[in-house]
Amino acid sequence: MENPTTELFHRLIRRNRGKSVVKTPYLQEGNTEVNDPDEQRECFLKYFEDLAIPKDNGYDEKYLELCTIRHKLITEFCNSSDDPLEPFTEMEIQNGIKHLHTGKATDEFEICSEQLKASGDILLPKQPSKLAFKHQCKSAIQKTWTNILVAESVKKSTLKYINTKDLAVGKPHIIWKSLRSMVSEVKMGITKARMLTGTFMTQVIKHKYNIEHSDQICKLCTIYSEDLMHIILDCPALFSTRQIYYNRLKIEVINVIGESKWSELFGNKDAILLLILDCTNFSKYFSVDQQNAITKLSSVLCHQLYLMRLKLLEKTAKVPNKQCGSDTCK
Ligand SMILES: [Zn+2]
Repeated sequence: MENPTTELFHRLIRRNRGKSVVKTPYLQEGNTEVNDPDEQRECFLKYFEDLAIPKDNGYDEKYLELCTIRHKLITEFCNSSDDPLEPFTEMEIQNGIKHLHTGKATDEFEICSEQLKASGDILLPKQPSKLAFKHQCKSAIQKTWTNILVAESVKKSTLKYINTKDLAVGKPHIIWKSLRSMVSEVKMGITKARMLTGTFMTQVIKHKYNIEHSDQICKLCTIYSEDLMHIILDCPALFSTRQIYYNRLKIEVINVIGESKWSELFGNKDAILLLILDCTNFSKYFSVDQQNAITKLSSVLCHQLYLMRLKLLEKTAKVPNKQCGSDTCK
């Protein structure tokens, strides 16, 4: 029988087993004619059994051997190579599928090239571009660390002046954005950053951690406890320096929000200290440029107070019979 198919096989079997008078006249097996329906079924049985049994005799042994050698060489080459393997790009996979030969046998998963070609975008890997992938990774890492940073910041009493809502990993604080990359301005930024992050060494902090057996009394005025509020807003020994730079800051802010709003927002020292250390706590009242200008002026104020305090402490240390010792801000 030429071009046998399962459908034709069953049709012939049904015809021979049914009541129909129509019967297959004969089957030719080799040079023999088979007329008996039972024998014909036996012929079909043998034929399909033969089709179902895999046969390796048809392989081209030499070609198989060449393929095996080539496969082995590629594996060895990949294992010994130090170059990272570039994954296939989406475009290469698209081109590969486009040039597949059709009318071929299915692969081991019973998928034929026609199905691959008809799949459209379904089989394409959803890989982002290299740039997009880098951006996604960076964003995800920064987001994770920002969440951790903000969660920890709100628990730290030393960070109470920082506007945690504006904190983000990978985003410089406004202190650094407001200053130029000059040594003098970077020094101002360092002083301000120490004050903002609770690492500026005041007498209160020295006393708290029992450094040099210090008490918490200010060594300049020798009256009050010396914390940040005292240095920046209260210490009478720093009055003249404060007056110059604080007034500049106040005028800048009043020019933006007006005197009545100044009185409303900054009627107490806590609010003023918050403004000086991180004006982004009041960001809804200022544009970005205004915040930069205010931050720079407040950084100048903090740094000038620090320099004057240092100068006065050095003078105090040189005066005999005083027990204040050398004190430099760390
Ligand atoms: Zn003082």
